[in-house]
Amino acid sequence: MTSAGGASTLDDFDSSKLFCGATHTHCGPSISYDRTGPGQLYDISKEADVMTPQQYILLLYERFGAGIVRAWQGRKPAGMSWALGHAVVGYNRRLSYADGSAIMGFDTARPDFSHVEGYEDHAVEMLFFWDADQKPTGMLLNVACPSQVGRKAISADFWHPIRQGIKAKHGPDIHVFAQCAAAGDQCPAAIVRGKAERLMTRRRNISWKQELANRVIRAVDDVWPWAKADVQTRVVFAHRTIKIDVPNKNSYNEARWMPSTVPVELHVLRLGDVAVATNPFELFLDYGIQIKGRSKAVLTFISQLTCDHHGYLPTRRAVSGGDYSAVNHTVGPKGGRVLVDESVKAINSLWPPEK
Ligand SMILES: [Zn+2]
Repeated sequence: MTSAGGASTLDDFDSSKLFCGATHTHCGPSISYDRTGPGQLYDISKEADVMTPQQYILLLYERFGAGIVRAWQGRKPAGMSWALGHAVVGYNRRLSYADGSAIMGFDTARPDFSHVEGYEDHAVEMLFFWDADQKPTGMLLNVACPSQVGRKAISADFWHPIRQGIKAKHGPDIHVFAQCAAAGDQCPAAIVRGKAERLMTRRRNISWKQELANRVIRAVDDVWPWAKADVQTRVVFAHRTIKIDVPNKNSYNEARWMPSTVPVELHVLRLGDVAVATNPFELFLDYGIQIKGRSKAVLTFISQLTCDHHGYLPTRRAVSGGDYSAVNHTVGPKGGRVLVDESVKAINSLWPPEK
C-alpha cells in the first residue's frame, strides 16, 4: 500500500482487500466541489472558516491512512462473537396511493393513501471483538437505515449518541464501527405515527436522535450476555473482491449513447458463521433481504454505498410507483437481480457445497 506522499508503508497489506462504506449522513463534510461551489446546493464559497472539499479530502485520506496502518500493525490474537438484536431505526419512506403511484414522503393524510410501499428491517446485526483476556475491544453494529436525522451541524448523526451510550457502559476505549445495510428506501423518521412519536420524544425530553440511539443501545444490552458467552478464537476466514458489470437501466432500450453496464466492486467475507457482502448502491431494502434470505451464512451483513456510489437501485415495484429515488437511478431492477445473484453466489462459495 502506498501513502499519499508516495512512501510505501505497508508492504504486506493487499490493498485490493480494503473497503470503505458510508453511513450516509446528511451532516458530514462535503467532498464534492460541484455541490459546494458558488450558487450550488451547499454553497460554502463565502464561508472563510469552512474547509474546502479539497482540503477535507486530504485530511480524510491522512486520517484513514493512519488508521489503517495502526490497525494492520496492531493486529493481535483476539476473539469474535456475533449477535442478533432488534431496534426500530429505519422506516420505509415511500408511500403508495390508490392509483398505484408512490411518493417519497410523509403524506399519510391523503384520502387515497393505500399503503407503505415496502418492507422495513428492524434487525440490529452485531459483531463483537474481544482481546486475549476476553475484554471487549469493539463492536460492529449494522442497521438498515442511513443516519440522516440532522442537517445543520457536522456530526456522525445518530451514531454519535450510540457511541456515547456504548462507551458510557463499556469504557471510553471501546470502538463502535457503524455499518448501513441495504436501505435505499429507508429513513430514520417515523411516518405513519409521526405525531405520536414526536410527542413521546417530547415527553421523554430527549432528541429524536437520542431516542433512536437508545433503541440501538438497548438492543446491544439485550444480547450482551450471550455475545460475551460465545467468543470464538478460531474462526473460518475468507475474503473475496469481485468486479462485475451490472446492466444499467437503459441496457435493453434504444439509448445507445449510455454505457450499457456499470462496473462495480463487491466484497464478500466469511467470519465464522457470519457473511459480509458490500455493494456501491443506495440499495432498496428488498435486495438486501433477498441476499440475506439466500445466503448460507447464519447471519449476513450487507454494507451499501461501499467502494464507490452508483446512486439508488430501486425495485420494480418502486419504479412502477415512480417519484424520487425510483426515477433518478442508473441501475434498475434488472441490474438489481444480477447484483443479488452475484452476491449470493460469492457468499455461498465461501461455504462448503451441500452434500
Ligand atoms: Zn442523501
